[in-house]
Amino acid sequence: MRNAGGPARRAVIGIAGAAGEAVTYLGPASWQGVATTYVRAIQDAGGAPVLLPPILDGDSVSAVIARLDGLVLTGGGDIGPSCYRQPPGEVVLGVDPDRDRAELQLILEALALHVPVLAICRGMQMLNVALRGTLVQHLADHPAHFDTDVAARHVVTVRPDSLLRRVTGVSSFRVNSLHHQAVLDLAPGLRVSAVADDGVVEALEIAGRDDVLGVQWHPELLTNDPRQAAFFAWLVMTSAARR
Ligand code: MN
Repeated sequence: MRNAGGPARRAVIGIAGAAGEAVTYLGPASWQGVATTYVRAIQDAGGAPVLLPPILDGDSVSAVIARLDGLVLTGGGDIGPSCYRQPPGEVVLGVDPDRDRAELQLILEALALHVPVLAICRGMQMLNVALRGTLVQHLADHPAHFDTDVAARHVVTVRPDSLLRRVTGVSSFRVNSLHHQAVLDLAPGLRVSAVADDGVVEALEIAGRDDVLGVQWHPELLTNDPRQAAFFAWLVMTSAARR
């Protein structure tokens, strides 16, 4: 009999990545990948992480989702405003149409197949956009949110009857804030499970479902705090239970 925590039982968690350019020993090269912090957070929580490139085409997304136990959507550049039926404003940073397209499909197929989802920062915004919500394109009126400091920066208040409350066990905590955009119109079916003191949406979930969580901050940068590591433990546990 295999150990319950052994390799046969490891949940396979896809981590949706970004594209970039780097200088390598062969000269300039484009890459597709994710920050190490996400990978470590999943593996430390007992999951088996796999990296998902942002140029996945439609058939590839479907093939990948069918084989995943769980999904992490990560941070990154702004979501193209055309994804939520808006013209681009004055400040739009780092839009990647391939990544937008792949992630919109990843979310919709994961939700349809009940593959558990942890949606972080841009990922939480993607969750809202995928379900036909809209975004604040440039969070200029809330400078406290668009920060480069990875340490905890502002307080969020957690809704009492939320999945977020059950996962973290707390009613408020301090989080980091590295986001340039935010939720504007909430998509149908979503509910806000945490807000900042200025009203900015900081967490989302789906009423009646315990397999989807979105957070506007970056728990993968705060995993020394058990309440932040709890997100990855929740995802891995929920994904393993679903198998
Ligand atoms: Mn914030």
